[in-house]
Amino acid sequence: MGDKLTWVEEELDQLKAAGLYTTIRTLNSPQGAWLVVDGQKVLNFCSNNYLGLANHPHIVTKAKEAIDQFGVGPGAVRTIAGTMRLHVELERRLAEFKGAEAAISFQSGFNANLATIPAITGKEDLIISDALNHASIIDGVRLSKASRAVFKHRDMDSLCQVLQENAGKYRRTIVISDGVFSMDGDIAPLDKIVDLAEEFGAITMVDDAHGEGVLGRGGRGIVDHFGLHGRVDIEVGTMSKAFGVVGGYVAGDARIVEWLHQRGRPFLFSSAMTVPDTAACLASVDLLSASTELVDRLWTNARYFQAAMRDLGFDTGHTETPITPVMLGDEKLAQAFSRRLYEEGVFGTAIAYPTVPKGMARIRVMISAAHSRADLDEGLAKFAKVGRELGVIA
Ligand SMILES: *Cc1c(COP(=O)(O)O)cnc(C)c1O
Repeated sequence: MGDKLTWVEEELDQLKAAGLYTTIRTLNSPQGAWLVVDGQKVLNFCSNNYLGLANHPHIVTKAKEAIDQFGVGPGAVRTIAGTMRLHVELERRLAEFKGAEAAISFQSGFNANLATIPAITGKEDLIISDALNHASIIDGVRLSKASRAVFKHRDMDSLCQVLQENAGKYRRTIVISDGVFSMDGDIAPLDKIVDLAEEFGAITMVDDAHGEGVLGRGGRGIVDHFGLHGRVDIEVGTMSKAFGVVGGYVAGDARIVEWLHQRGRPFLFSSAMTVPDTAACLASVDLLSASTELVDRLWTNARYFQAAMRDLGFDTGHTETPITPVMLGDEKLAQAFSRRLYEEGVFGTAIAYPTVPKGMARIRVMISAAHSRADLDEGLAKFAKVGRELGVIA
């Protein structure tokens, strides 16, 4: 009798041979500008901890205080007995921060998409998605019985064409886009998407995971960046990136939020965010509401690093945000580059197919407000050294 699982080994070997195998490193320190990995101190260029809040003393204190008062677990799904005062308070503060009517929290941003898309669409409807939308949007769409169409990445002629071709054929049409695209750092033309959607009576939904704490006044996100308050029906957010904790949410029209309380499956069938997570998220929102200092520092750092990388001769793609793709093309080159950087004490992950198209491999540098100027200079020196060594720059 053969081993039923040899195919797994074969598939894994194929991934390794193609340079597509992901090595997962274990951290032995909190998140921050520097990490301890396997006993080695490395400069952190890969987390989504944009504002350095993942280990912020005030937020940590708030989480501890909440544990003393409420314990750790929510005890149940939200609709049965898992909604605590903290969850309700967080949702009120999130809605206020985003300038939306209401908000509902989920265990993650991924879950927020899985909850929302099938809840608002059925087989009589059409979902129109940007070609490069995040995996959680794609999976949310797969869970819906609605028809699907894709428009070319950020291409408004393509979106217009899809809307025109399908006008009058469906009960409802919904247009969904990432706000900031996480692999390239480019921004969706949300103002134009909203104009088109309004013209065709379509519902709009944006996933602001990488825009939160980054774009807009004091990090209020993409809707604030474009001044579109009240015109985007559904804003999905995550609290695992700039907010530094974990959790997801939907902000927008109060009727949508009420509907998700009734029909969002991860809300109804999976327990609520834990007490310390919820309290920490609340503290993050309060911190962001009180000061723009961290968001300002993030942008100063990003502009400094990106300009210096271009001066060195690196191709940083067409980013418009602190996400800095260092385009290398070949998958194996990207892996070799990442490995050499790591040996030099810089932790920058190689990103390759299927996360990005074949032949578009890169190191993605994630700049944070937690980095000092000296940290950035050290990173630049190491990029220059490895870049010359591997013939990427002259
Ligand atoms: C990271 C990300 C998510 C997932 O967020 P989590 O809270 O980590 O589950 C969803 N959508 C987009 C666009 C993301 O970048």
